[in-house]
Amino acid sequence: MKKTNINGLDREGLESFISSLGEKRFRAQQLYSWMYEKGVMDFEEMTNLSKPFRSKLNETATISRLKLSQQLSSQKDPTTKFLFELDDGQKIESVLMVYPARSTICISTQVGCAIDCKFCATGTMGLTRNLSPGEIIDQVAMVQQITGEKISNIVCMGMGEPFHNYDNLMTACDILSDDVGMNFAKRHIVVSTSGLIPKIHQFTEEGRKFRLAISLNATTDSVRDKLMPLNKKWPIRELIESVQAYTEATKRRVTFEYVLLNGVNDSIEDAERLKKLLGHLSCKINLIPYNATFGEYKRPTDSSIQQFYEKMAGSKVPVTVRWSKGDDIDAGCGQLATNAN
Ligand code: SF4
Repeated sequence: MKKTNINGLDREGLESFISSLGEKRFRAQQLYSWMYEKGVMDFEEMTNLSKPFRSKLNETATISRLKLSQQLSSQKDPTTKFLFELDDGQKIESVLMVYPARSTICISTQVGCAIDCKFCATGTMGLTRNLSPGEIIDQVAMVQQITGEKISNIVCMGMGEPFHNYDNLMTACDILSDDVGMNFAKRHIVVSTSGLIPKIHQFTEEGRKFRLAISLNATTDSVRDKLMPLNKKWPIRELIESVQAYTEATKRRVTFEYVLLNGVNDSIEDAERLKKLLGHLSCKINLIPYNATFGEYKRPTDSSIQQFYEKMAGSKVPVTVRWSKGDDIDAGCGQLATNAN
């Protein structure tokens, strides 16, 4: 008999699995707490479960984990990249960045990505498949277990477009933030999107309390159409309107990510336009100097990054330059691709 993988099942999923075994529903809560609150993944160590129930679980269920294939640490900063193998042999990457006051993990939500942003290594892979909720949360659990580091912040900005895998992502984020689950503060979980407007509306309407980030990267539709082909369907003005609706409905601030590409979107005129586009919104802007990986795009010089920043600095919205971590191990923004395959 094929065993059921219960890693990533939420309370409801566990309850229906437990009922199918003819067991009482409170057993589901016990299992949920062992797996997600205590991080115990071996039924034999779940000491408040009766022996017969543990045997039944061993016969019918499994808690599938990611397998670590490779771990690479940066020589320049405290950043580590993890390559994980999934049950079907596919590979994904996660990145841990350790700062003095916090530790942030950047996790993947898909194997590859369908969005095809032209500056992104993952975009060249195309989409293979969505990750399950268990595969999303296990990146956090595994990295904590491997490193012993207590992670404080989670950003869904690794491989994949998170909102293309909306339902699995939300199940994962609910378990990650549940106080009898993995107990991360909702405001410490950032979900990033390249601009899937219907999903931004859904996220707003559902009142999700995770933080929202938008990967913008251009100030005109003609440039964004080239960099991010989804802009042809959901152009900048409509994207900004959907974000405004989100900030007004939720009273929460949004982060805009803007990857600076030499000679493409880094002019003083771009800085002026960016100020105008976002000046009326409750938001902050992260400028991310590009990590050259391949293709035609290059990183701007430090002096033109500085000029862009100074032009933006007079803006009403806070602006920071996010100097990428781990670019010597291809762990920076836009560099994740499972090239170890
Ligand atoms: S930047 Fe994000 S959305 Fe765009 S191709 Fe890369 S992973 Fe996909």
